Amino acid sequence: MSSKFHIATEEEVLAGKVTDVYFERTRQILQAENADKPVVAEFVVKSFPKDLQWGVFAGLEEAAEILKTLPVKVWALPEGTIFRANEPVLIIEGNYLDFGRFETSLLGLICQASGIATQAARCRIAAEHRPLFSFGARRMHPVIGPMIERNAYIGGCDGVATIQSAELIGIEPTGTVPHALVLILGDTLKTMQAFDHHIDAKVARVCLIDTFADEKFESIRIAEALGEKLFAIRLDTPGSRRGNLLQIMKEIRWELDIRGHKEVKLFVSGGLDSNTISEYNEVADAYGVGTSLSSARVLDYSMDLVEIGGQLLAKRGKASGRKSLFRCEKCLHSQITPASTDSLQCQKCGHAMHSMLTLAWDGQNWLQPKRSAQEVRADVLKQLPFIA
Ligand SMILES: [Zn+2]
Repeated sequence: MSSKFHIATEEEVLAGKVTDVYFERTRQILQAENADKPVVAEFVVKSFPKDLQWGVFAGLEEAAEILKTLPVKVWALPEGTIFRANEPVLIIEGNYLDFGRFETSLLGLICQASGIATQAARCRIAAEHRPLFSFGARRMHPVIGPMIERNAYIGGCDGVATIQSAELIGIEPTGTVPHALVLILGDTLKTMQAFDHHIDAKVARVCLIDTFADEKFESIRIAEALGEKLFAIRLDTPGSRRGNLLQIMKEIRWELDIRGHKEVKLFVSGGLDSNTISEYNEVADAYGVGTSLSSARVLDYSMDLVEIGGQLLAKRGKASGRKSLFRCEKCLHSQITPASTDSLQCQKCGHAMHSMLTLAWDGQNWLQPKRSAQEVRADVLKQLPFIA
């Protein structure tokens, strides 16, 4: 364990120490009985949370760090693939004892990453073209902040708040100022003037206006004082003062427009999720989403054995045999087939389908091309119109 934080070290994860005890008991028994066998295991989500029918596959880049140490073969979807229930995202072929104890860690990596990427994609769909930022790192253990924000980004966020996460992704971090600065300097306008004086001109001037006074009158005061320098007003109105936030935003929009400040954007944050984003689209221009992204419901993948010792065999409720996942390049319709299927025509549009699960690890080399977070995100965004 880490000596300071309550976390396993990288070495412990790679050594298979983060494992349920029943895998260790399985190892003891299979070794004593000399009964280890070659198996095929597939990772699938059997059902999604009730208002969801699809997920974004994520977490593979981290899972690969474990897989690359194992004497097995691995087939995987590219990270960022949108998939549906029972579609295999990852297949491992090898002797059970060579990888069984890693089930806990492999599942944990893809379940959480995919849950966050999926929630970000839902917020992306809700926000339509409006900028969307991940502000939720502060709600979670700091060691996983970069993982959270990378997955929020690949799911469709345009930017992330924390400096280290932005470095991991290869973008500039996004942020305004905290209420703390406004409180210390004692005035919202004075804070914005200090920001304008000290912060690089390429950073947009976004004013947090809910610290001391009414949102409408503060917005008017700031817009009149800063003029064209003001890029956006940010509302982070506390719950106790919200009343009808949509109405407050409409009122601000009216008062700014009538005074000639039509270019000033309205940026909303605080307790947002994909449902509230849809409600605020009428007047909001950009969103900061926190807790609903960082604490996104995980996707419940399971790892199931589907072939044992070369024989078709799976537990009750589960289809046996290794499978392929074919997808239409044109309409993204997908179909699960036995792995022996060579080619397939789309049942919906007649276009050729292609096999999505490619050999990722042959026991020697990781064969999937390394892609940047930007490339994975672009891939997710291309697929979203087909499911929205
Ligand atoms: Zn098609």
